[in-house]
Amino acid sequence: MTSVPSDAAGTPSPAPTPLAARSPYELRVDLGKGVPEADVRSALATGDMGFLHSFTTGSAVDGPGVRVVAWTTGCMFRCLYCHNPDTWTMSNGIPVSLARATEELRKYRHGLKVMSGGFTLSGGEPLMQHRFAIKLLTAAHAMGIHTALDTNGFYGDRLADDELARIDLVLLDIKTWDPERHRRLTGMEIGPTLEFARRLAARKRPIWLRYVLVPGLTDDDADIEQVAAFAAELGSFERVDVLPFHQMGRFKWQRLKLDYTLDTIEPPSQEVVERVLGIFRAAGLKAN
Ligand code: SF4
Repeated sequence: MTSVPSDAAGTPSPAPTPLAARSPYELRVDLGKGVPEADVRSALATGDMGFLHSFTTGSAVDGPGVRVVAWTTGCMFRCLYCHNPDTWTMSNGIPVSLARATEELRKYRHGLKVMSGGFTLSGGEPLMQHRFAIKLLTAAHAMGIHTALDTNGFYGDRLADDELARIDLVLLDIKTWDPERHRRLTGMEIGPTLEFARRLAARKRPIWLRYVLVPGLTDDDADIEQVAAFAAELGSFERVDVLPFHQMGRFKWQRLKLDYTLDTIEPPSQEVVERVLGIFRAAGLKAN
């Protein structure tokens, strides 16, 4: 018989939160809160431990083929439309050794190859834990698994050129073009993201642009035309994914008692999505 862990008073301890989740929309908080500060610092410096919201399987929208996705915690942006604000704080994630994360991935190795899929590291912002991020992507690469990094690019300069070579695809989120609008949307500057895009293009690294379409916030034609022109000129953007805003993350803002300002915003109509896809296509990009 398997014994159930209990405290000194005999009260059964709750089962640890599993690494696997049905989707990133599971609300997860404080799972790494007990980790001593010195251990967090060491994890960030060495990359031998990271903080993950979860692993999910079967994604068809986070890179080519069917993807296993590891969702990191920690983000320097505060996007008004963020669908997963529980991933903003690193200590909300599960502390996971690199060895454990690699073993988790190894389970899917054969299936991913058969389905021409791969592994995507997303978040949160994975480069908040850039040592862990690159070590995990390197491990995936060494197993022959296609690797993708989903990033806002703000800390792209933390990766060396030889590390970029181990990332088969960068899914780069460009939120808007206008610097002031970018500050209002995310709380941060747009410059580092664009600089990272230029650097990837100069090294001929494949990029997919991810553009979250939010009515009233990121649906300005002139602004989107600028994003499209930038991506087309760089030449490394293999495709554009226009991601329509939705309200699946609203409950997280409410449960975390965060000030959610998009309560009344509806997802964009198909007509608006088509119009935006048309702007990217008119610039010569493949857009879906
Ligand atoms: S960059 Fe992504 S995870 Fe970070 S706040 Fe924005 S949408 Fe959320």
